[in-house]
Amino acid sequence: MSTIRQQDFIQSIADAFQFISFYHPVDFIRAMGRAYEDEASPAAKNAIAQILMNSRMSAEGHRPVCQDTGIAVVFLKIGMNVRWDATMSVQEMVDEGVRRAYTDKDNPLRASVLADPDGARKSTRDNTPAVVHMEVVPGDHVEVKLAAKGGGSESKSRFAVLNPSDDVVEWILGQVPTMGGDWCPPGMLGVGIGGTPEKAMVMAKESLMAPIDIGELKKRGPKNRAEELRLELYEKVNALGIGAQGLGGLSTVLDVKVLDYPTHAVMKPVAIVPNCAATRHLEFHLDGSGPARFEAPSLDNWPKLAVDLAAGAKRVDLETLTKAGTATWKAGDRLLLTGKILTGRDAAHKRLADLIAAGQKLPVDLANRLIYYVGPVDPVRDEVVGPAGPTTSRRMDKFMDTMLAQTGMLGSIGKSERGAEAVAAIKRHKGVHLIAVGGAAYLVAKSIRGARVLAFDDLGMEAIREFDVRDMPVTVAVDTTGDAVHESGPREWRSKIGRIPVKVA
Ligand code: SF4
Repeated sequence: MSTIRQQDFIQSIADAFQFISFYHPVDFIRAMGRAYEDEASPAAKNAIAQILMNSRMSAEGHRPVCQDTGIAVVFLKIGMNVRWDATMSVQEMVDEGVRRAYTDKDNPLRASVLADPDGARKSTRDNTPAVVHMEVVPGDHVEVKLAAKGGGSESKSRFAVLNPSDDVVEWILGQVPTMGGDWCPPGMLGVGIGGTPEKAMVMAKESLMAPIDIGELKKRGPKNRAEELRLELYEKVNALGIGAQGLGGLSTVLDVKVLDYPTHAVMKPVAIVPNCAATRHLEFHLDGSGPARFEAPSLDNWPKLAVDLAAGAKRVDLETLTKAGTATWKAGDRLLLTGKILTGRDAAHKRLADLIAAGQKLPVDLANRLIYYVGPVDPVRDEVVGPAGPTTSRRMDKFMDTMLAQTGMLGSIGKSERGAEAVAAIKRHKGVHLIAVGGAAYLVAKSIRGARVLAFDDLGMEAIREFDVRDMPVTVAVDTTGDAVHESGPREWRSKIGRIPVKVA
């Protein structure tokens, strides 16, 4: 029998979420380092370099690896011989831990959770409640596995109830290309097979709590069907050529995890949940001896990269940029931006579109400006802005035609690809779409030298800001002719992988 005290449990949860906000798991850093070494696509290699540089900077600065600090997910296995010295419920204790972690004054994390999801969608302000999965098992300790899951990857989860004779691999290989680069690969795929629909989804998520070990599995060989699937999917998903950030390349997944469970004779439920470049999870056990302690990883775990982001990049002065300038850019060009950009994402775009539709004056002048899709973390100490990486661009697709046609805006900066509607609008209005690396939020923030709110202050992280940037690294994803790297890159690398040995663990 062991007794877990309320304050120890809450403290452990809080410390764990702070820890994973700035430390990638060591197995993930090493796997990403190997992906960097092996990568043959220059664009993907550059993106992986930025992810690794960002990871090390976050570890050193104790600031989030990504501006999306995730929704808290917690798996608990509670021993049947555990006694709680607590007045709060387990859910309440987890939520109190999450609250403390996300409102930490030295490293505040972004509160992304909204209540009333199909109504007012109002921020809960402290990222609670967590999503908690509990199981009661034999034993006298509590096993805690937790993760901070980013919205970009969570929203690319997939589920289907296949027929018993359907091929799981075929279905997954059909789904992954539809996820594009929005889930910020390279990362991991969690797969749940069997049970009932909700069981398959939970297994897919839980499978991601394990460390990357595909290399070991390859060496020792599979012992069951789930392990066979892991190896087959790892090879075949990487052969799709999607690559880092969807730019085309050898590494799309660093590992594939599979959990399965008996199911009904008439069906085969299958779920996929991806883990992104901001893979953040941790496991610890409580046995009544006090709160969990977490040891900071040695910086020796990060590869020593001698990467000059300026090499091969064009420097752009945003203060003199016009359509004549953007027309010289080609899809795939790497740029370093210096000058002023505006920010705005979902809610700000909706308001701007409504004002335009009503024939009213806009609160900001977008003429000859680029708009950056971002919702930064609040700054601390001498920061002008907290981690400020790009958010998913496709959510702004429906506004692209209006924005380019009605505001004089030159284009956008965001994460990964645009949909066909937005690419057509870009081509029609000779706009551009640039990408910054999703999951490199702290590195991007270091290039922001000034920030001030210009409009819609009430939208918080979604307010329209003016950023003063210096040498902000971006890549031209869609040029003024409508040429799109997220189309051409994966096509090129899928074809190349067909002719060169597929990446192995
Ligand atoms: S790395 Fe990409 S998907 Fe992951 S949390 Fe950050 S922006 Fe979202």
